[in-house]
Amino acid sequence: MAKTPITVAYGDGIGPEIMSATLRVLEAAGAELDIETVEIGEKVYKRGVDTGMDPGAWDSLRRTRVFLKAPITTPQGGGYKSLNVTMRKALNLYANVRPTIAYSPFVETKHPTMDLVIIRENEEDLYAGIEHRQTNQVYQCLKLITQPGSERVIRYAFDYARANGRKKVTCFVKDNIMKLTDGLFHKVFDQIAAEYPDLQHETLIVDIGAARLANTPERFDVVVMPNLYGDILSDVTAEISGSVGLAPSANIGDGFAMFEAIHGSAPDIAGQNVANPSGLLLASVMMLVHIGQASVAERVHQAWLRTIEDGVHTRDIFREGVSSQQVGTTEFADAVIARL
Ligand code: NAD
Repeated sequence: MAKTPITVAYGDGIGPEIMSATLRVLEAAGAELDIETVEIGEKVYKRGVDTGMDPGAWDSLRRTRVFLKAPITTPQGGGYKSLNVTMRKALNLYANVRPTIAYSPFVETKHPTMDLVIIRENEEDLYAGIEHRQTNQVYQCLKLITQPGSERVIRYAFDYARANGRKKVTCFVKDNIMKLTDGLFHKVFDQIAAEYPDLQHETLIVDIGAARLANTPERFDVVVMPNLYGDILSDVTAEISGSVGLAPSANIGDGFAMFEAIHGSAPDIAGQNVANPSGLLLASVMMLVHIGQASVAERVHQAWLRTIEDGVHTRDIFREGVSSQQVGTTEFADAVIARL
């Protein structure tokens, strides 16, 4: 099989540890990848490149169109702009697909039957970057919702549901307050839902939607929502499934795709060999399917499942009486490789 070119970035914090673990598993599984490694994140910002991305990295992405990316650090409340947001917009990655599944009884969770996918609009909303100072005491951030942007991600959610044997698509909005912006998202959702009579659909106000997602996640299937709600609520669903370290994401556009864990660079545990590499490893499984290497994807997924089922767990999901062995990032990758 010809090797598929992909771009890889090791990122910041725990990024290098979980990326090394992931790439070792992919290589052992026989993934046919021609890897171009690029530098992004803190190191690049510190060299004075304010996009956080070496110019060579853009050239690589234009060639490969597939990006496996570790998390990067973005300063809070000031400093440079988030490279994640820049990239999602520059590459037109309009749909952020975030599946969360409970691996009960192997991973402890209060929601043993949850199995849902959040599809987060990825370019608009309060993340559009329209934020400015009005006076020393007043700052403004504008929420941008467009008809074409909403149509694209909502249609993607319905197509995804159909293609993956899902039964229901739920929309979260706050259109009792933001009547024009979230109102438009809701209106487009209803219009597109009418084209998919084989799928159930419903809309919830995001407050009660979030409460039910946290309390009874098993009642949800595919959930589509504007950017900010999706960013927040996908961390909630990952955490209640067992750990934020378990969840992968695929950022999908028409010409590019980027695969990453949903979590950040976790500076509090960086360099300690304790991070769970599962989010990035499962994102790489989504990538393998995307580039047409489904049988390798299945092999990696099955080996990962067997590792989890054997109770070989990193610290975040280790529980006495549930797990059999607590391992570090490197040893977890070794255990997956041993089960390939
Ligand atoms: P975080 O997701 O990095 O960490 C939150 C908590 O979860 C921490 O206690 C951390 O130790 C734990 N955690 C995260 N991933 C884990 C894993 N794989 N295994 C075990 N535990 C894990 O969120 P944060 O601390 O708010 O953000 C840190 C940095 O990451 C910030 O600079 C933020 O901007 C950035 N960030 C980047 C991305 C990305 O690159 N896609 C996404 C979110 C946050």
